[in-house]
Parts: sequence; structure tokens; C-alpha cells
Amino acid sequence: MACGHSIRWYDNLPLLSWVVLRGKCRDCETRISWRYPAVELAVGLWFAICANDLFSLELAKVSRLSGPTTSEYVDVAGFAILGFLLIGLMVMDWQTQRLPDAFTLTGIGIGFALTCVQAFFLSPGEGDILLNTTHQLRMSSPGSSASQGNVFMTGPEALILGRIAAIAGAALILLAVRWGYKALRKRDGMGLGDVKLMAMIAAFLGFGQAMLALFAGVIAASVYGILLLARQRASGSSKLPLGSFLAAGGLFAALLGPGILAWYVDLLR
Ligand SMILES: [Zn+2]
Repeated sequence: MACGHSIRWYDNLPLLSWVVLRGKCRDCETRISWRYPAVELAVGLWFAICANDLFSLELAKVSRLSGPTTSEYVDVAGFAILGFLLIGLMVMDWQTQRLPDAFTLTGIGIGFALTCVQAFFLSPGEGDILLNTTHQLRMSSPGSSASQGNVFMTGPEALILGRIAAIAGAALILLAVRWGYKALRKRDGMGLGDVKLMAMIAAFLGFGQAMLALFAGVIAASVYGILLLARQRASGSSKLPLGSFLAAGGLFAALLGPGILAWYVDLLR
């Protein structure tokens, strides 16, 4: 940034180049921020987790009769892409207060497309939503090879429509907060970027985990805000990079969401 020289490819290798250059530009010796290698390391660690997931899927082949399903492979791919997008957005919002559409809207598209791939590979009857499960008529009907006569929605319908509802629902919740704030304070409190970011998390993870991401992100942002207020480094009208906290919440939900949601549902029983 300082001298305007373009970066040579061998000075642009993740982590390695920063170490070789000792954190300085080859041309003008300006310090290169530690944030660059930090992001590179974070993405590297995230992909290592994905590789480990893939490895355990392959291991499971040995112990199971059938191999991993397409849906499980798609899950790992979605996990990798979501992490890459969220780490990038987290740093961008912190530094520039911007959440580019090129990341959020593209992310919504990719997350939804992966859901459609999973829906396509469901086996017949898998994920069907049945009504009145005590009475099964067992008749054949169009659209299903062995319909039980009480199918409310087939698996693919439930998965795809459910994901559309999750994306719209997550966006609507943040829009409601945005409108509410505007009505009370007569000024914008939250950007549309945050709305699209939540919709993106829902597109990859579904509604339950998206709500966990929102919950974790808002708690973390509140703690940070209270700390700033306590140290008198901020006032009631200071801005916080909410997107960074929501993105961190998304990473948290992607990593630990299924376990936490299962525990929570157990608690309610
Ligand atoms: Zn330079």
C-alpha cells in the first residue's frame, strides 16, 4: 500500500512470504500489518479442520457398510466455503466497516445451491414430512415410489423450502431490528450488510444454527461495547463493527452448532 509497487507472486505466498520478508515490504521496507498473516493462518487452520472432517468421513467407510453420502461431502464443502467467507468478512468489517455484496450475496447463492445439491441426492422417502403417522395407508401415488399416503412434503421439498424460509427469516429478524431502531432513534443503527450476512449464514447452516450465530454474535458485541463504555472509550452513539461479531458467531455456530442445538433441544424435553 505504501509505495504502490505491485506484489511479486513469490512475495505473496501465505504466511511464508511474511516470515521471509520479516514483515516488511521488499521495495520500501514499510511494515506489513500482522493482520495479513493472521488471516492466512486462520483460513489455513479452518481448512485443516475441513481436511480432518473429510478424513473421518473416509475412515467411516471402513466401519459402515455404505460409504459417506453425497450430502456429507457437500456439508464439508459448505463448511470450508462458509469459513473462508466469514473470516474475510470479519476482518473487512473491522477495518473498513463494509460487508461487500460480492461476498455476502455470492455466499447466499453458494449456500442455497449446495442445499439444492443435497436435496437432489436424497434417497426416496428420505426426509419426508408425514402427517398423521399413526395411520398409514400404504398406497402408491404420483411423485413417490412407495408413498405412505400421508406425505405432507417430500424430503427435497422440505429441505429446499425450509432453507428459503430460513434465509428469509434470518434476514427479516435483522430487518425488524433495523426498522425498530430507526423508528425509535430516527437514524440508521444497522447496515443492510449485516442483514445479508445473517441471510448468508442461514443459507449455509439453516435457521437453528443461524439463530445461534446471531445470539453468540450479539452477546460478544454487547460485552465488547460494555467494556468500551466502562473504560470511557466509547459513548452511547459510538459505532461497533457488528458484522465482525456476527461473522465470529457464524464460525462458532458452524464449529459447535450441531452439538449445542442437540443439547438445547434435550434441555427442553
Ligand atoms: Zn513498499
